[in-house]
Amino acid sequence: MLNSVAPEVKSPEGPHAEALLVWYDRHRRRLPWRALPGEKPDPYRVWLSEIMLQQTTVKTVGPYFQAFLARWPTVDAMAESDEEDILKAWAGLGYYSRARNLHACARFVSERLGGRFPDTVEGLRQLPGIGAYTAAAVAAIAFDRRAAVVDGNVERVVTRLEALETPLPQAKPRIAEIVDGMTPADRPGDFAQAMMDLGATICTPKRPACGLCPYLPFCRARREGTQETFPRKAPKAKRPLRRGAAFWIVRPDGWVLVRKRPDKGLLGGMTEIPSSVWSEDFDSSAAVNHAPLKAKWRKLPGEVGHGFTHFELAVSVYAADALLSTKAPPDCRWVRLDDLDGEALPTVMRKIVALVRGN
Ligand code: SF4
Repeated sequence: MLNSVAPEVKSPEGPHAEALLVWYDRHRRRLPWRALPGEKPDPYRVWLSEIMLQQTTVKTVGPYFQAFLARWPTVDAMAESDEEDILKAWAGLGYYSRARNLHACARFVSERLGGRFPDTVEGLRQLPGIGAYTAAAVAAIAFDRRAAVVDGNVERVVTRLEALETPLPQAKPRIAEIVDGMTPADRPGDFAQAMMDLGATICTPKRPACGLCPYLPFCRARREGTQETFPRKAPKAKRPLRRGAAFWIVRPDGWVLVRKRPDKGLLGGMTEIPSSVWSEDFDSSAAVNHAPLKAKWRKLPGEVGHGFTHFELAVSVYAADALLSTKAPPDCRWVRLDDLDGEALPTVMRKIVALVRGN
């Protein structure tokens, strides 16, 4: 697919959109949410994919996108669903506030806007869960509005084109300015997608295929042989380690206790194996004080590790047996073991279940 040499562009001024669009017309990626050439994009699909793609790879999103579309083919269908069902279908994608905002946004568009997404950046910014990036991306891709769309791929391309020494994230405003200057009035939606595709398939983090790049004649980093060193990044602060405990309790008929997390906060509204708070000074010797029920708790060998954006987590897992008559405490309920996979369990909870099953 990417085996031809890019057309040579003879402008001395800088990278022109035209060269990139010529390349895009030949090499664009086929993505499940993307309209085919000549097809009108569906704003619902574009919006859904952009929300899913935040902090998540194209490969991971693909099956989720297809499943969501099969179940909720329109924004009105999604608006009529329960938030709980959306959270269940979202489980595993991470950053769960996105799923709750997805539902809130679908309801807003369906109930207040007659099922039509606004077609401007400003209009889109008014919707729940839509920030500056998503508004620009949806406006450009779904409505062909001229907007500077900058994702991680585009940041890489631009910092290399300009050999930009300012590290990320400080370089973001300058990158947005550059992209704005590059974005054409004609076909801005295709331009935005072309920049993303260029970053994803040619201007890759390691070993970019500069020989195939339509911007080769204009790339400062390539000229200096430093392309792989961009973008510059400010050193990351080490993430703190928090600790906690999770409590696995099963009835003789095989039902297990789960709990709904509070709606606000980390993993809000998701289902959990009842857990303690997670803190840096967690007192492991008194972990069972956090158990949802009094029982003969035993600590299972091993520990579950999980990385969140701002901290690392290590969870010890305790197991116990309940009686058939044991009542579920407030916010908790019993779930059949076989039904656990269909619950809105975030990845860290799935890891806890896997540790229990491995013991
Ligand atoms: S020439 Fe190479 S480094 Fe420069 S934009 Fe193209 S692929 Fe990226």
